[in-house]
Formats: sequence, C-alpha cells, structure tokens
Amino acid sequence: MATLLIVGGGIGGLATALSIARRGHEAVVLERNDRFAELGAGIQLAPNGIEALDRLGLGDKVRERAVHIDHLRFMDGVTGEHVVSMPLTADYRRRFGNPYVVVHRGELHGMLLDACLASPRIQLRAGHGVTAYDQDDTGATVILATGERITGDAVIGADGIRSAIRRQLVGDGEPRISGITVYRSLIPIELVPDELRWNAVTWWAGPKCHFVHYAIAGGRYLNLAASFDDAATRAIAGTPVEKQFVQSRFGALGEAPRQLLALGEDWKAWVLVDRDPVDNWTDGRVTLLGDAAHPMLHYAAQGACQALEDAVVLGDLLDCSAAEFGRRFDQYNHERRERTARIQRVSRESIKLWHPAGTDAKARNEKLSSMSATQLHDHVAWMHGARSFGAVLTGGASR
Ligand SMILES: Cc1cc2nc3c(=O)[nH]c(=O)nc-3n(C[C@H](O)[C@H](O)[C@H](O)COP(=O)(O)OP(=O)(O)OC[C@H]3O[C@@H](n4cnc5c(N)ncnc54)[C@H](O)[C@@H]3O)c2cc1C
Repeated sequence: MATLLIVGGGIGGLATALSIARRGHEAVVLERNDRFAELGAGIQLAPNGIEALDRLGLGDKVRERAVHIDHLRFMDGVTGEHVVSMPLTADYRRRFGNPYVVVHRGELHGMLLDACLASPRIQLRAGHGVTAYDQDDTGATVILATGERITGDAVIGADGIRSAIRRQLVGDGEPRISGITVYRSLIPIELVPDELRWNAVTWWAGPKCHFVHYAIAGGRYLNLAASFDDAATRAIAGTPVEKQFVQSRFGALGEAPRQLLALGEDWKAWVLVDRDPVDNWTDGRVTLLGDAAHPMLHYAAQGACQALEDAVVLGDLLDCSAAEFGRRFDQYNHERRERTARIQRVSRESIKLWHPAGTDAKARNEKLSSMSATQLHDHVAWMHGARSFGAVLTGGASR
C-alpha cells in the first residue's frame, strides 16, 4: 500500500481519492480553502461522466438526485425559431448506456465528499495550500504555503486551471483569456412561464452571444448562463453584476430569451479562461488531473466529466506498487491526452457555431435543422458514448 498526495479537493481531486482508495492505496487530499466545498450552480453530466461515477460507486445516487434531460434544444435567439433538438430519450440512453443529466454542483461535490469521508483510506486536510513539489527516487513531497513539507509516494495535482503543480511542471504561465464573459443566475421554476418550461438544456444563439438554461435541484430552479463576446482582457470569477447591466448585454436577443433573463437576480460574472493542450503533464512521480491538466471552456459541458474520467483511468492503472507509479503516470498521460485535447479544441470551436449573425446564422440554422436524430447522436458519440475513456476510443470516431 502506498500514499498518494492529491493537491486540490474539487470534483477531480475527490474522485481521484476514491479511485485510488479502491485500489488499496492511501490518499491525502490537500485543499487550499478552509473547507471542502464547491461554488456555482448547475453542471451537466453526459453518459460518459455518469459511467465514470458508476465506476466510483456513485452512479445510482447521481441518477436518483439529478434532473434527467429529454433534449438539447437549439433556438435562434434573435428570431425565436426552433432550429433543432437532439433527443436524449430512449435511443440516446440505449446507445450511450446512460441518461444525460444535470445536477447541482454542490450536490455532486457533496456526494464525492461523503464517499471520501466514509473511506478509512482517505484523509482530507483543508487549509493546506500547496506552492511547489519536490521528488527523489523514493518519493514525492509537497511544500505548503506555510513552508511545511509533506512526503508521500507520489503527487497528483488536481488544483484547477491555476494549478501550482502545473506552474512548476509545465510552466506555461497564466491561462488564456477567451474574451468572453458568462453571467450566471438561478431563478425559482415557478417564475418561468409555462410555455418556456422544457425538460431540455436550451441554447438561444445570437450575434456575439448565446444564452443557455436548464432546470436543476430536482427541477426547483432554472439555471441561467448567458455568454457575451465582449473582448474582456482581465480574468474575473464570480463577480457580482447589476441585473440591468446583464440585460443591456443581451438586447439583441428576441422576446422569449429576454423575458427569462429579466427574471434573473443576483447575477455573477466570470471571464472565461482556458489553455492550449499540452502533450506532457507528468514528471516522474508527479502528474496532473482535471482542469490542472487540460482546462477547457465549458461549452462542451465536459470539464468535470473529463476530470471524472481521468480519476477512473488513473485509479485503474495504479493497481501496482509505488515503484511502478512513474511508469503508470506516463501511461495515464498518454492514454488521456488525445481525447482531452480534442475536447479542449471542440469547446473553443463551438463558439463559431453559436455566435454568428445574419446570413451566417441563417446558413447555420439550415445546416443544423437538416440533421436527423441519428446524425446528431453520431456527432457526439465519441464524446458522450465513451466507456474506456482512453485515446483508443477517439481515433476513428465520428465528429
Ligand atoms: C461556467 C462553467 C460551467 C461549467 N459547466 C460544466 C458542465 O456542465 N459539465 C462539466 O462536465 N463541466 C463543466 N464545467 C467545468 C468544470 O466545472 C470543471 O472542469 C471542473 O470543476 C474541474 O474540476 P477540478 O477538480 O479539476 O478543478 P477545480 O474544480 O478547479 O478544483 C480545484 C481545487 O483545488 C483547490 N486548489 C487550487 N489551488 C490549490 C493549491 N495551490 N493548493 C491546494 N488546493 C488548491 C481549489 O480550491 C479547488 O478546490 C463548467 C465550468 C464553468 C466555468
């Protein structure tokens, strides 16, 4: 039995603690914040993310608590035209082995946390900010902000997009600022007009903007996320914004999406950031996972799903002694880089589909509306339908 130090107690770090504890190793999770918690609202989980949760023993709980979505619904946000819907019901669920769901982020994190607390092999240490790592032939050490050193057999950096472990290991500086701001709010479902209450994740696409909403928390709230291409140059995260300001950003949208936006209160803004894919995120007994390894824009709704997949693949590979960890980390990195890099690229490219105006928007609508349900399913099969989560599945897949 070995001891692995996991830096970061987000969705990726906790999932990894569970997957390596299931292999008989000890996990020590070091979280910078004073408590283990997750901010924010809804999170979409495609079948691949639920498959990963099944392998961690949490799939049933998530399926039970989540809202099971029937459609991904694409609307022209200016004209109000329904362009296309991808059904997520019987054929989709049969083909990909699971439903497409949304959960409250805090609820998902809470389920992972409870499972970690119940494991005698997992130690959770809040208030432990890590600044650097060190290693030799016998083990790996993290250095805390206090100067304290903690040594184990290996280190996994699951410390998010501004990872301290990545800074030392990859050294690629600050994240790339996308120039897009997303505004988020939650509204009680009873405020939503009946004719707009679809059991769907709905996109309203408009010029240089789009607006997404879906129900969360057992259907009690509608989660609103409205993106605007404002060429922002400074990263912000969770900054409160005036309601009137948000409404002014989306004045180009038609009546229905504006009606929903007007219901939002307590808006918060994030300027979206990501990074370019890298081939190598492993250094001997130290590796990265989740957003620390492959941060992506949230437009494919796959960041958490990919962190969960990483956790499962890494856990499966660590069925070995500590002497083997370096080699197994390389193998994990190799198996995961192609698939995650592709999703990083797809997430960026999706903006080109959602933000055009005029004739480009019309051409997009014509193309999308001509696609059958099967064609739409084929398009996402490589991503949503993955079961082994490695590079091997992404090779010849359709797109
Ligand atoms: C607006 C938005 C919507 C999204 N929607 C979806 C979605 O629908 N579906 C989906 O799958 N994904 C979605 N994502 C992506 C998803 O939220 C992330 O990919 C996922 O949370 C990454 O998890 P993580 O554990 O790798 O990193 P994080 O969640 O960033 O967790 C990192 C943890 O490390 C801690 N930490 C940081 N630095 C240190 C340090 N130096 N020492 C110790 N601890 C440290 C942090 O406090 C944090 O707890 C969305 C993201 C955004 C921004």
